[in-house]
Amino acid sequence: MLTLAKYSLGVGDRFAHQAKAQLKACVLAAEQGADVVPVWNKSHREHTTVGSQPGSVRAAADAAVRELGWNKPYHVDADHIRLETVDGFIASSDFFTIDVADSIGKSADAEHVWSFVKRHTELVGRLEIEGIERPLEITRIDVERTADKYLRAVEEAAGIYRRIVHAKGEGRFITEVSMDETDSPQTPPELLVILAAIADEGIAIQTIAPKFTGRFNKGVDYVGDLAQFEKEFAQDLAVIAYAVGRYAMPANLKLSVHSGSDKFSLYAPIRRALARSGAGLHIKTAGTTWLEEVIGLAEAGGEGLAVAKEIYAKAFEKRDALCAPYAAVIDIDAAKLPGSGEVQAWTSRQFVAALRHDPSCAEFNPHLRQLIHVGYKVAAQLGDRYLKLLEACEPTIAKNVTGNLYERHLKPLFVGLDGK
Ligand SMILES: [Zn+2]
Repeated sequence: MLTLAKYSLGVGDRFAHQAKAQLKACVLAAEQGADVVPVWNKSHREHTTVGSQPGSVRAAADAAVRELGWNKPYHVDADHIRLETVDGFIASSDFFTIDVADSIGKSADAEHVWSFVKRHTELVGRLEIEGIERPLEITRIDVERTADKYLRAVEEAAGIYRRIVHAKGEGRFITEVSMDETDSPQTPPELLVILAAIADEGIAIQTIAPKFTGRFNKGVDYVGDLAQFEKEFAQDLAVIAYAVGRYAMPANLKLSVHSGSDKFSLYAPIRRALARSGAGLHIKTAGTTWLEEVIGLAEAGGEGLAVAKEIYAKAFEKRDALCAPYAAVIDIDAAKLPGSGEVQAWTSRQFVAALRHDPSCAEFNPHLRQLIHVGYKVAAQLGDRYLKLLEACEPTIAKNVTGNLYERHLKPLFVGLDGK
C-alpha cells in the first residue's frame, strides 16, 4: 500500500521551473530533523490556464529529485480532479485529490439517507471522543441532515475513486477527498458523519480537506476567529483519530489544509494541535511559489523587473475577468490597487516590498498580492518570453522560492515539532 508520510507539503509549480528550489526547502527542513515529504500538485484548472499537460509535473518533480539526490518519498497530486478530468492524470499521478464540493448540498436519494441513518445508530446521542473535552451531542435529525447534504458528494467521490482503482490498482495511489471549495464550513460532528459515509463506500482515504471556519483568501493571511479555528481544528483531529478506529479507515488518515497560500497566523495554532495530538498534516500552499517567481523577477531588476511590472499592468487591466473564477477566495479592494503608471515608476525594492508577504512591512499591499496571485494567466500568455526570463533570473527566483517555503512555512510548522 502506497502510504503518505506523517508530514507532507503540497507545493504548486505553475510553470514547472521551481521544483528543485521547492525541494531544496524540504532538504533544509530534513537537515533540521523535520521530515516533510513534498507533493507537487496542479489542478485541471491550472493546466488549462497555463496550457500544460499533467505529465509535465511528474517530469519536473523527477528531475528535481534526481538533481538533489532526494532519497525520501515524493508524490505528484492530481489536484481537485473530478470524474470528467481524472483520466488525463492517471498515468503521471500517484496522489489524487478528489473534489466533490460541487455535489455538496445536492439532496441525496431519500432511501440512501434512510439506510445510512439506520446503519449508523452509533452516531446518535452523546459521543465521548478522546481529545474533545465535552462529549459531542448529535441528534438523529443532525445525522439525517448531514447525510442528506453530503451523501451525494461521497457517492460521487466513490465513483471517481473506483475509476482510479480500476486504472491503477488498489493501494497504488494516495487518495484525498476535498470539500474545501464550498460556501459553509464543515463542523467536527459533520466531519464525523462524512467519514462514516466515506468508510461505508470503502474509499481508502489518507487525507481529507474540509472547509474550515474563516476566510482563506488567496496568497494572504487568514481572516477569522483564531480561537474558534484552533478549537475546531483540534476537534477535527480527534474526530479523525476516532473514525480511524471506529470505521477501520487507513491508520495514517490526516487533515489536509488547502491554505490558499500563506495562512501564517494559523501555523502556531496548528503546530500546537499537532504537538498535543501527535497527528500528521498535509499542508497545501501552492500559489505562493508563483508569487515568489514574480518577486524573484522584480528583485533581479532590468528585464525581470520590467516583466513583473508588465504582469501587474495586464492583470490590473483584466482584473474583472481574472478575479471572477476566484470570487469566493479573494477580497480585493480595487481602490487600494495602485495604478499601472504608479507601479511603472517603482524601483525593484518598491515592487518587492509591495508584493512580498511580510505583514510587518508598511509597503506590503495585500490587494496587489491577491491580484497577482490570480493573474498567472497573464504570465502564461507571455509564453516563451516568460519561461526564458525564469531561466535568466534563476538565482534570485530560486533564493526566494526556497527561502519562502522553508522560513515562512516549513520552519514554523514542522521544525522541532517532533522534539528532534
Ligand atoms: Zn483546495
